[in-house]
Amino acid sequence: MTSRRKIFVGNWKMNKTPQEAQAFCETFVPAVNGLNNVDVGLAASALLLPGLTTRFRGVQWFAQNCHWAASGAFTGEVSTSMLKATDVGGSLVAHSERRQMCGETNASAGQRVAALLGAGLQAILCVGETLAERDAGRWQDVLRTQLSEGFAATGIKHWSAALGSDPSRPLLTLAYEPVWAIGTGRAATSAQAQEAHAFIRSWLKESLGSDIAHRLRIQYGGSVTLQNVDELMGMPDIDGALVGGASLKADDFAQLVARGARIA
Ligand code: PEP
Repeated sequence: MTSRRKIFVGNWKMNKTPQEAQAFCETFVPAVNGLNNVDVGLAASALLLPGLTTRFRGVQWFAQNCHWAASGAFTGEVSTSMLKATDVGGSLVAHSERRQMCGETNASAGQRVAALLGAGLQAILCVGETLAERDAGRWQDVLRTQLSEGFAATGIKHWSAALGSDPSRPLLTLAYEPVWAIGTGRAATSAQAQEAHAFIRSWLKESLGSDIAHRLRIQYGGSVTLQNVDELMGMPDIDGALVGGASLKADDFAQLVARGARIA
């Protein structure tokens, strides 16, 4: 048994109009509101968030990206103060689609994490290897580099303070998302996922100490569905899920979260 509270976040990516998002929330939010033992969040387009956060307070709201600068000439980005003013609780950082398509690096990921935590917001830092890297037996090297460069770029020295005052909800969550499992319908097996999560936790222990390693939540992401959620969430180092495709339908995602909550 672990003392970490599980966290399930739906990543809507570039999906849903404001009307569709509202209809989703009218079903989803009441359906998950009775679940007291898990954190439930939705990562929506920045354009959708202002219409949702104050209206649907029963879930945590996340942006899909957030810049480290307070303001300035950064076309297309959003700042921590914009998120705070819109009642958004945090942001995804360095999702593999942003790493692959938008030039996100480990260094920029670390800067984004530092800005979010410094503003008292949550960050979900995504890491994970490609299929070619896994097939070449390099997944551990890839994760080690993503973690060491990313954490170094935060510049944070005192992690205990940086993680905020609520011990059950540290401001930083890691998401292990093997790129080959995202949107492919080919999830990692529970054994593969557990092996990678245990590797990440042991890196955290060596680099930041046992207390931080024990506290930080590590979500699994990559083709999580109703069919595989029980097995994945039963693994000792898997502390929730970051869910793309299966988070788009309110009833299905509510069922998935409820299943995960039973294992929490
Ligand atoms: C994701 O986009 O973070 C993700 C895990 O997607 P999917 O669940 O569709 O694989």
